[in-house]
Amino acid sequence: MPGLLKEHIAVVTGAGSGIGRAIALGYAREGAEVVLLDINGKAAEDAAQEIRDAGGAAASFALDVTRHEDCVAIAKRVAEQVGPVSILVNNAGIARRNGMLGATDAVIKDWQDVIAINLTGVFNATQAFLESLRATKGRIVNIGSIQSFVHIRQPSSPAYTASKHGVLGFTKALAVELGKHGVRVNAIGPGFIETPLNAGTRANNPDAVKMFIDHTPLGRAGKPEDIVGPAIFLASDLSAYVTGSIVMADGGYRAV
Ligand code: NAP
Repeated sequence: MPGLLKEHIAVVTGAGSGIGRAIALGYAREGAEVVLLDINGKAAEDAAQEIRDAGGAAASFALDVTRHEDCVAIAKRVAEQVGPVSILVNNAGIARRNGMLGATDAVIKDWQDVIAINLTGVFNATQAFLESLRATKGRIVNIGSIQSFVHIRQPSSPAYTASKHGVLGFTKALAVELGKHGVRVNAIGPGFIETPLNAGTRANNPDAVKMFIDHTPLGRAGKPEDIVGPAIFLASDLSAYVTGSIVMADGGYRAV
């Protein structure tokens, strides 16, 4: 059913890689004009070019979501150069995995960086695009995690778990506040998805990978493409009465 997102302008953060890149390409296939934002401006532009080469519409901008003033400046440029944004996917994120008992400097840096990108970054981009989203009665899709609900024992990552719990809490708060303005806000909870984010774990920690797969009823890791369907659903009119929810795309991990 192509064309589900025709007439929409969709912004995707962290769109240069992994899940964000797949969502951007998927939205373009559904007819959206896509704005790809990433701290790695070249990666975002390469993905935008791939969309244009396939006949879609895309623009890209370099953006570090931790910088609120930059988010505001990019939102202004997007409004002027592309148009009113009706879909925002808060996807940019990092995973650092030092437990609380790790080296003090590493633990502190993990906390500061992970919260700044995964949680404050979601706030920053949302706040910057809010005027446009209200005007268009838009949709926000936040990327949570299994760790929006539970902690993964190994490798331990308290900052990541806290950040993703925060993303779900922020999703609910926004959904409640923006509902009467016609803006829907939901999240997706991916399971273990093979992207550059966990390339190190996959290369160096087979025990952790086995733990994930053994715990996953579908018996496999996910691919970025596995997140695209839920992301289209939550951005389109198919989910017109869905807000404040999280769609788990985790191979059943949380059912066990
Ligand atoms: P990824 O392949 O590493 O992609 C993340 C993208 O975000 C990268 O292009 C990265 O750029 C960019 N980024 C990092 N910091 C940024 C910043 N400050 N501002 C803007 N962009 C920034 O990771 P992914 O696996 O697709 O992850 C996407 C989202 O899914 C994250 O929120 C992650 O927590 C979530 N998630 C992933 C999994 C999984 O198993 N992969 C599971 C659950 C949830 P650089 O590469 O230059 O750093």
